[in-house]
Amino acid sequence: MSNAKVKNITTSAVRAGINTDKHHGAVVAPIHLSSTYSLKGFNDKRQFDYSRTGNPTRATFAQAIADLEQGSVGIVTSTGMSSVHLICQLLSTEDIVVIPHDCYGGSFRLFTHLAKRGQFQLIVVDQNDQTALKAALAKQPKLVLLESPSNPLLRLVDIEEITKACHDVGALVAVDNTFLSPALQQPLELGADIVFHSTTKYINGHSDVVGGVLVTKEQALGEELAWWANCIGITGSAFDSFLALRGLKTLPIRMKQHQENALQVASFLKDHNAIDNVYFPGFEDHPGHEIAKKQQAGFGAMLSFDLKGGVAAVKKLFANLELFTLAQSLGGVESLINHPPTMTHAGMEESARLEAGITNSLVRISVGIEDINDILADLANGLSKSQL
Ligand code: PLP
Repeated sequence: MSNAKVKNITTSAVRAGINTDKHHGAVVAPIHLSSTYSLKGFNDKRQFDYSRTGNPTRATFAQAIADLEQGSVGIVTSTGMSSVHLICQLLSTEDIVVIPHDCYGGSFRLFTHLAKRGQFQLIVVDQNDQTALKAALAKQPKLVLLESPSNPLLRLVDIEEITKACHDVGALVAVDNTFLSPALQQPLELGADIVFHSTTKYINGHSDVVGGVLVTKEQALGEELAWWANCIGITGSAFDSFLALRGLKTLPIRMKQHQENALQVASFLKDHNAIDNVYFPGFEDHPGHEIAKKQQAGFGAMLSFDLKGGVAAVKKLFANLELFTLAQSLGGVESLINHPPTMTHAGMEESARLEAGITNSLVRISVGIEDINDILADLANGLSKSQL
């Protein structure tokens, strides 16, 4: 696996914000809930003056993520989607944006609807289709969005290779790193200009925060986006930043356990006769396996599969699971199961969804860190009953 810097990530995550309190020596970074800060005197501001613009707790969390992603500026936003929307502030009506045809349904919805209103020109492309991608880049886009691995089909793209091609035509590259977190992939190190996350997922890791974060490689681009974040008022709250920073400390150690469990779940599902296909980059025959080995420090803990028997079987599976929770979201310590067509990707029109390969029998799993024997026993029970 790549990435020598991953060695230090566990320490960086644990130490984030430690010993930063100059007033009382609090070991853990304190939470600052105050919405406003006094000036020292006339026109004499302190570092922070108003919490939409800047907040000490949010700044500590932003810096921690910027460090883990090896970037210059970190911007903490209210949700993952507001991080995506923030990137759209860089675009004018004539600008072209390229997005993957199978990205997260919410991102797909945002880009397609803003494009319909004429905010920018949009090209939706299968980024694994070299001819289609080349044709899109020939139109000289301003921005190319990547999502690797993609949600929910775990497709991978070679971030370094695509980024080089994008830079050759002057396009900025923004990568959604939600599925892996900086513990397993660092897109800025692979050349990207912007990396963003739904911190709702692995970064916070406990399913009790909705948030986002964006990190830029260059200072100037980060400052421009930070200006917009304040301007449109989408910065994250102090309380959510505090919780997410707390969650971040165990990110690398959680990812280890998530991945260990996911490998076993994937192998179990692959051999199961109720299942047609399992989408998991850890398999040697997964089309993105070699890319994963090159650019990731692990295969992650998300996977999806096509269940035999269509929607009727999916319903029976869900009705018979006891440990897995049927819910939106992913990346928390608890195992979650999801039906993308009716849940996370319901925002996509059916034709676009089916074209992206998100069938009605597709099930997505976020493998938690419960005892693996309990996870496998629950799946074994649910899957056998799904075919009755
Ligand atoms: N990106 C990906 C890959 C996601 O899975 C999600 C949410 O599921 C988002 C972005 C949006 O994040 P949020 O729900 O925090 O707005």
